[in-house]
Amino acid sequence: MLTGIGSAFILATMTKLAVSLLVESLSAAHAQAAQAAERGADLVEYRIDLFTEELTALKALVERSPLPCILTCRPEWEGGEYSGDEESRRAVLVAAAEAGPAYLDIELAAWTGDPELRRRLEPLLDGPKAVTPSSVGLILSTHDFQTRPADLLQRVEAMAATATARVAKLAYRARSLRDNIECFELLLAQHKPTVAIAMGEYGLASRVLAKKFGALLSFVGLDDRAVTAPGQVGLETMKSLYRWDRLRADTSVYGVIGWPVAHSMSPAIHNAGFDAVGYNGVYLPMPIPPEYEHFKATVGDWLNHAPLNFRGASVTIPHKENLIRYVKEVGGEVEPLSEAIGAANTLTVRDDGSLYASNTDYAAAIDAVVEAMEISREQVADKRVAVIGAGGAARAIVAGFAGYGASVVVYNRTMERAAQLAEEFSNRPIVPGITPGDVTAAPLDELSDSYCNIYINCTPLGMHPHVDATPMPELANTRGVVDAAMGSGPIVVFDTIYNPIRTRLIRDAEALSCHTISGIQMFVRQGAAQFTAWTGLPAPEDVFEKILRDRLTQTKTNESNK
Ligand code: NAP
Repeated sequence: MLTGIGSAFILATMTKLAVSLLVESLSAAHAQAAQAAERGADLVEYRIDLFTEELTALKALVERSPLPCILTCRPEWEGGEYSGDEESRRAVLVAAAEAGPAYLDIELAAWTGDPELRRRLEPLLDGPKAVTPSSVGLILSTHDFQTRPADLLQRVEAMAATATARVAKLAYRARSLRDNIECFELLLAQHKPTVAIAMGEYGLASRVLAKKFGALLSFVGLDDRAVTAPGQVGLETMKSLYRWDRLRADTSVYGVIGWPVAHSMSPAIHNAGFDAVGYNGVYLPMPIPPEYEHFKATVGDWLNHAPLNFRGASVTIPHKENLIRYVKEVGGEVEPLSEAIGAANTLTVRDDGSLYASNTDYAAAIDAVVEAMEISREQVADKRVAVIGAGGAARAIVAGFAGYGASVVVYNRTMERAAQLAEEFSNRPIVPGITPGDVTAAPLDELSDSYCNIYINCTPLGMHPHVDATPMPELANTRGVVDAAMGSGPIVVFDTIYNPIRTRLIRDAEALSCHTISGIQMFVRQGAAQFTAWTGLPAPEDVFEKILRDRLTQTKTNESNK
């Protein structure tokens, strides 16, 4: 038991992870705090907004706490759950201070607006007016659950000017990823220990990177479902996914830019990859609304903030075109093939600060195929490839295969789109020194008449939850497949979908003894190429693949348990 651990202990060390708990009973709170301690939390915040036991029980709450603690009784008017009047709350706060926690959290508005509260609390806190030496530090806090308050800087000044406040805590709902930058600035300028949190889905960076910028602490929930503020993540997520223990001031920052990105699996693979090779980086989801102006303003702000050390990003729908436009606008370099495809998925900040936009999707697709066929990229020139679909993924794959000389047929539901793609890439020189292949278009219902060596699904047909769908219901009768079965050489069926791992198309193709390639292989390879572009190191592809498989299996299990 760590009873009596005071604030000096806390301030002497690095940014702490504080698990925030809404207290329902003493025993439940202590049990949860014990779990938090076991899982590596440094502090616990007891939210006593709904505490219904005698106030004297607060002493036991603190004394028997397995971790040093913060006591907070947040009123409804500041976004909390306490619904009583301020006079009753004053009594709770005095009892809380008397219980001797490491910290007591009080709202700036309450502190400045209630002289009686100050008169009663000041002797109990460790500020200049303390009558006896006290270990209770005052956290002066301010919250806005709607937006960034217009008077934020005045609030910061008021906190700085309050001598009794040992800690300044600012929390407001971020309007975009850009609001994280202001949190970092507040931390860099801190005169007293500070907590600066951008709340909501845009604010994750402020929580994870609190350690990089020397915040006093970052709040987490006991797990992802037991959180006490918008955007908070669970202890385990912070520790294992975002590698809290490895974060330092010089950690490089990466992310996946998209809209939406909450379900992206890229943070899981890249963070695990950094861990596996001992690279000092962290990778975050970066939601940016679709319009180019949002992309430009956000990416620009993140790149321009030198202490952030933002070094690169995976870029996904709907920003793949925006990335090319942006990199060109700021004088960076765009890989020629990305330019030809019109879409890039990787942003790399080079050592001299210049930007490079590239596309790892096409290379991932080609390499997955050539490896399965045991041929070189150049040897796809004598292959005939059926690409099913004419959207973004198909575009990169058509450009890549035709660029390396293969004959490509684009089969699509909407014939005009297929024809457009064919016209754009047929016999178009893309890869230096290689004669490009021809690209033709055909309606989707002619697929079973096709005679190809390689079939690639670039439609969402068969993707979760419509797992019984397939773009090739006639696979067993498809001419190319029938011929291959008669000994004309191996045939490859490649489904770019990775959820589920084994789609109906893949299962049907396996039953016909085709070589099969799943979307996981493409996903792993495109991620691996990004990883190498950023770190200069070979990617631990086995780690990537294991994580993807585990996550997809977990999702399936969770769903079948619902
Ligand atoms: P997209 O731009 O929206 O294009 C979707 C294509 O699928 C279009 O050609 C569309 O035809 C066709 N399509 C959609 N619904 C259809 C239906 N019900 N019947 C027939 N055709 C249909 O999407 P995308 O970005 O290219 O992504 C396509 C797939 O690629 C996704 O399912 C994704 O899983 C996969 N992908 C995988 C990876 C990886 O790393 N493994 C990477 C990127 C993408 P119309 O032209 O007629 O609308």
